[in-house]
Amino acid sequence: MDASERPRFVIQQHDASTMHWDLRLEAEGVLKSWAVPKGPSTDPREKRLARQVEDHPVDYLDFEGVIPADQYGGGTVIVWDAGTYGNLTERDGAEVPVAEAIDDGHVSFWLEGRKLRGGWALTRFRGEDDWLLVKRDDSEADARRNPVSTQPESVLTGRTIDEVAAEAGEPDEQDDRG
Ligand code: MN
Repeated sequence: MDASERPRFVIQQHDASTMHWDLRLEAEGVLKSWAVPKGPSTDPREKRLARQVEDHPVDYLDFEGVIPADQYGGGTVIVWDAGTYGNLTERDGAEVPVAEAIDDGHVSFWLEGRKLRGGWALTRFRGEDDWLLVKRDDSEADARRNPVSTQPESVLTGRTIDEVAAEAGEPDEQDDRG
C-alpha cells in the first residue's frame, strides 16, 4: 500500500478542565477517538487509561489552537504527534477491519508518527468507554523514553501548548495587563 493511502492518526494534547492527550485513528471516514489522561507510553509495562470519546470529523486532524468552551470541553489543543498507521488486528489469522475491531473492544495498530513508532493495543476493559492503551513489546518499545514530558512541542508548529494558549491571549493574561 502506498504511504499516501494509509489511514492517518493524530495525538492532540488538550488542556481542557484536565490535561489529556486525544488519540484519533482515521477509520470509515471519521476519527475514532480516545482521551488518554497520562498520554501514551513507550513502555510495554505501562497501561494507560484511554476513555473513548465521540468520533471527530477527519478535518480535525490538523487542528491546533483554542476551541470555544461549548465545543469538546473547550481549552487549548496542539498536534502533539501525527502520521499514518497500519491495522494489526487479527482474528484466526485474518485482518479485522478497524471499525469492527473497535466495536469488538480490541484494536491493535502500528503507528508511523514523528514521535511514536511501533505497535500499540487498545482494549476495552470496563463499561462502554473505558479502555487501556498499551505499547506492544516490539522493536520500537523503549521503557527509558518518556516523550510526553521530554518532547512536549507541536509537530506542526514547534510550539508548546502553553505557547499556543499565550499567543491566543488567555483571559487571565489580559487581566495582567490591567
Ligand atoms: Mn479532548
